[in-house]
Amino acid sequence: MRYGIFSDVHSNLEALNAVLAAYKQERIDRYLCIGDIVGYATDAHDCIQIARVLKPELVAGNHDWGAGGKFDLEYFNPNAKEALVWTSKILSREELDFLSSLPLVHSGENFVLAHGTLDAPQEFYYLNNYYEADRTFAILEKQICFVGHTHRPGVFVEAGENLFYKPLSLLQLEAQKRYIINVGSVGQPRDGDNRACFVIYDNEARTVELKRIAYDFSATQEKILKAGLPEFLASRLADGR
Ligand code: ZN
Repeated sequence: MRYGIFSDVHSNLEALNAVLAAYKQERIDRYLCIGDIVGYATDAHDCIQIARVLKPELVAGNHDWGAGGKFDLEYFNPNAKEALVWTSKILSREELDFLSSLPLVHSGENFVLAHGTLDAPQEFYYLNNYYEADRTFAILEKQICFVGHTHRPGVFVEAGENLFYKPLSLLQLEAQKRYIINVGSVGQPRDGDNRACFVIYDNEARTVELKRIAYDFSATQEKILKAGLPEFLASRLADGR
């Protein structure tokens, strides 16, 4: 089975279309999405529609629940909050209910999906340090936890007593190790590389691979500015920050 795993689309239709076109070359059997379909950019409706057609196993991100009215908007910074208020106005009641009905955790054969940390997933903490990685490993009952939320791809590896972090490129899984794998962001990467992130997990080859694809972010930027959303939400797409 080959899984296409992606996260943090954030209403960026140009990035999502580029990723889906790239996945078409990869013999994907099943898609998994780790949340934040909406927020920041403008194509919330189309991104929700595409997610529904793909039928990925989906978990909620803070922006999905925030737009749907299930997570307090006070949690968000002013730019994110402004985009979420805008998003919740353009979506139908049915689409908002879809977003707020997304579960926090999904369990697969040997993996789990959660947007932030696996412990207290409803708090959407960033899993970006050894302390949080340790807490997630402590309750992880599978070999792999796939996460998103930070928009920075990377992997925490638990090898016996040792815990270490490394960048994600092509990872060969080893039976005696466990992994927390951040798949990065489709629609708003923040690791200094402006190309969209997507991951392929092959459970027969036992590999997890991060791929990047360039997309036309100038079109996304134009839509953000035309909608009157904060200029920073447009400029950061070029910077990958
Ligand atoms: Zn996000």
